Order: sequence, then structure tokens, then C-alpha cells
Amino acid sequence: MDKYTAVVLAAGAGSRMHSKTKKQYLMLKGKPVLYYSLAAFEKHPGIGEIILVCGEEDISWCRQEIVVKFAFQKIKKIIPGGRERYHSVYEGLKAAGSCDWVLIHDGARPVLDQEILDRVLAALPRYRACVAAVPVKDTIKRGDSRGFVTETLPREELWTIQTPQAFSYREILDAYEKLMEQKETQVKITDDAMVAEYIHGTKVKLIEGSYKNIKITTPEDMELAAVYLREI
Ligand code: C5P
Repeated sequence: MDKYTAVVLAAGAGSRMHSKTKKQYLMLKGKPVLYYSLAAFEKHPGIGEIILVCGEEDISWCRQEIVVKFAFQKIKKIIPGGRERYHSVYEGLKAAGSCDWVLIHDGARPVLDQEILDRVLAALPRYRACVAAVPVKDTIKRGDSRGFVTETLPREELWTIQTPQAFSYREILDAYEKLMEQKETQVKITDDAMVAEYIHGTKVKLIEGSYKNIKITTPEDMELAAVYLREI
């Protein structure tokens, strides 16, 4: 049986939240934001192990206040992340060790439903590189540094990219290793699919995500997430 491991990222500082507590640890319906996505992976029968990546200074808090307190069984390692998200992902991938498939998820996305995981897991063996995504609802324009529109992009081709992002373990690890060998990355790496696209030229499959699978970024996202969590 193929082994599926989830790498859950919680090593960000979350400065756009303007709060003393990092956003992944803020209380949402009585539990830390991070608890919910870990619980979604814990509950899904297809997921074998979870690697939690957090700030070095938060490891013992996560162990005590999340893993022990809520009796998680699948969290095998809690490891320190890095400066940028992609550094944290690389640490998580190395810690994942022997698995066939890996799902990388932002711990700041608490509204992860089981159906998204079903769809991603079902698509993985066929496509080997899959990202949860939803069509954009708004018109997207490009703007210049002075705040004037330079271009209107064709909406029917545009997607909002979410996590989980899931890959063949060996292939994504290889892509990250090659990325790390580069002295300076040319572009800002904002997701994992980019690494597979740029390093290997991988064709990444868009899998139906959910409009509720929001990333907590600013304070109003907490209210939305609380509403959505009631519905899943
Ligand atoms: O900053 P942003 O919201 O895009 O981060 C997405 C996810 O990546 C969050 O769950 C955050 O904790 C994580 N992250 C990380 N290590 C970093 C930066 C972000 O694990 N250095």
C-alpha cells in the first residue's frame, strides 16, 4: 500500500495579522487555528503520517498544547522551519522520509474538508502533482507602480491556488534539493507547484478545492473561518 504523508506548515510569523500571537495559534472556536487542519489529516484514513513544521521556539508548546492535549496519533515529528515558506517545506520534506506521496498544507488554512483530501488522494497516482484550486470570482488586472491598470487578465483561465499541494515524494524532494542548490532564486517562490514547474517542468493538475478553504491572513478571516467551520 502506498504511503501518504502530510507536511503541515506553521513556521510563519504572520505579520499581516497585527497580533501578538502568531495567526496559526490564535484561538478559533476554542482551539488553536493549527489544530483544525491537523485534525483533518488525522481523521482521513488515507493519511499515514503527519510532519508538523513550526518555529523552533514553539516546538514544545505545539507538542504539549496540540499533540498531547488533543491526543494526535499520526504526528510523528515536530521540526523547526526556516526563513521563507519554501525553506520550511524543504525541512518538512527531509523529515518526511520514506513515503510515496506527500501533501503539503498551510497550517493557516483550518477549513480543510475531507472531500478535498479525497479528491487530491484520488488524483495523485494519475497526475503525480496536484494542487487544490478554485476559479477566481473577481476580474484580475495587472497594475503598475503608480496604481494604473496595465492589463486585464482573461478570467476564465485564472485560478486561486490553495493547499494541499500534493506530489510524488521523490520528485518534489528532488525539485526542492535542486532549488536549494541555486544561490539566488530568480522568482519569489510562493507555492510548491512553482518549484515543480520551474525545476522539472512538471505539468501540475488543478484539483477542485473549496471557497471555504481560506488562508487566515487578516483579522476578518478569523470570523469567516469560524462560520465555515460550523458548516463542514
Ligand atoms: O505567510 P503565509 O500566510 O503565506 O504562510 C503560509 C503558511 O506557511 C503558513 O501556515 C505559515 O505558518 C507557513 N510558513 C512557514 N515558514 C515560513 C513562512 C510561512 O511554515 N518561513
